[in-house]
Amino acid sequence: MSLTILTHPLAGHVITHLRDKTTKPATFRTLACQISLLLAIEATRRIETEKKPIETPLESVTGDVLAHQPLVVVPILRAGLGMVQPFLDLFPDVSVGYIGLERDHETAVARSYYCKLPKLDGRHVFVVDPMLATGGSAVKAIEVVKAHGGTDVALVTIVSSPEGVAEVGKHHPAVPIFTAALDRELNARKYILPGLGDFGDRLYGT
Ligand code: URA
Repeated sequence: MSLTILTHPLAGHVITHLRDKTTKPATFRTLACQISLLLAIEATRRIETEKKPIETPLESVTGDVLAHQPLVVVPILRAGLGMVQPFLDLFPDVSVGYIGLERDHETAVARSYYCKLPKLDGRHVFVVDPMLATGGSAVKAIEVVKAHGGTDVALVTIVSSPEGVAEVGKHHPAVPIFTAALDRELNARKYILPGLGDFGDRLYGT
């Protein structure tokens, strides 16, 4: 299992302001984009490039450009939507898929109620969900992505719990996790501590 935690000082700065309960939704959305940008850069560190000969105003040089291999970002509805824009800004050819999950009242297991995915085969797929708490949603979403042909899958989260990381590692050991913060634990209501509260509520002011 591979877990990468952002170490850039800016990540710590942004996370602290996201955690602050006095941060208002408009600022929260901006900060969510900023931290997602750092995560998107880290999570795509190993994507392929190819050589391209070009002319500068002074001479010929061969540079690197991204190889044509469209990426796919898959937000888990609804909080994951707050992490999509930086992927769109950085990677012009990115496709976006959506997975909506809800908890089955009988079994407490996450169930997919909405799924709209582009072609996944042979592409780098990034499942994005800001809060990795119990890991139930992430495990289910990765399962759905794999069932639709995704073979190269990464999970990108903003705050993770040790319990969530262990759960994803147990079910999908080959899926790398990229996160901005690894917090202490879950409370009895399955919120992450110290955490930042309900990400979706804070993002959308609900
Ligand atoms: N989802 C959230 O939005 N926050 C948590 O702390 C856990 C799950």
